[in-house]
Amino acid sequence: MKCSYHPGYQVALSASHPFPMSKFPLLKERLLTEGVLSPEDLLEPQPLERDVLELVHTAAYLDKLERSTLSAAEQRRLGLPWSESLWLRSRLASSGTLLAARTALASGLAGNLAGGTHHAFADHGEGFCVLNDVAIAIAKLRVEGEIERALVIDLDVHQGNGTAAIFEDSDAVFTFSMHGERNYPAAKMRSNLDVSLADGVGDAEYLDLLRRHLPAVLERSSPEVAFYLAGVDVAAGDRYGRMALSEEGIRARDRLVIEAVRDLRVPLVILLAGGYAASRERTAELHAHAFREAVAYERRAAHVP
Ligand SMILES: [Zn+2]
Repeated sequence: MKCSYHPGYQVALSASHPFPMSKFPLLKERLLTEGVLSPEDLLEPQPLERDVLELVHTAAYLDKLERSTLSAAEQRRLGLPWSESLWLRSRLASSGTLLAARTALASGLAGNLAGGTHHAFADHGEGFCVLNDVAIAIAKLRVEGEIERALVIDLDVHQGNGTAAIFEDSDAVFTFSMHGERNYPAAKMRSNLDVSLADGVGDAEYLDLLRRHLPAVLERSSPEVAFYLAGVDVAAGDRYGRMALSEEGIRARDRLVIEAVRDLRVPLVILLAGGYAASRERTAELHAHAFREAVAYERRAAHVP
């Protein structure tokens, strides 16, 4: 399984900052150590250029990012201190998602060991999300005529508000979000399908809802490519999640999505999105399941023991 990765995915933050930046290299090392990925599976993205970003983001917003003129209030809303390395990181990670999408279109499956920054709107960033990588990848592939229709399966515990807003008027992009009703963002946008969950939902209820909705979502959207935001902030004990999925429940969720999409031979792109477990190592471990399950599926499909 090919996966985009770049050392620049990690930028320095203060030790007390809640965003677990080191989960990116930790996940990469873990997948390599386990043999889920081999070194030649890693694809190295180049930072996206402005003309590609402008397919989704407003010129006024990109000007602020390029010139480092985000106000203090805008940086608070973003939840990350602005820096040149964060700007580079945002363009690298978005590029990684586009690269993964191109690879998935060619081979059926690929991932980005970052991405899923679904709280980024066309004109502003928030919730640790600067650029909307999925929206950029879809917009670019559509402009190139590579695809017409796409599906976003957003199972991060927080609603994919930026993605929903960006594609609200698009008939070609289907947005599906399962998320905590009372969690961030306070003001929900309108996805094509929103499934709201009460606080404290566990494995059985969560998996039942997903099983009930996902086949219809795939049927209605008839996608040429699907993006799976495999956020692990649904885990019990997550700092921001308020859900109660077990590790086995997360693994079952990942398997369910991968099987549903790949059984239909729809190209699949797997992205991290959020995860705020007690330690960065634990967060990386939970993120690893989606990649383990994807590789296991492909090996089963190819009848490799
Ligand atoms: Zn989240």
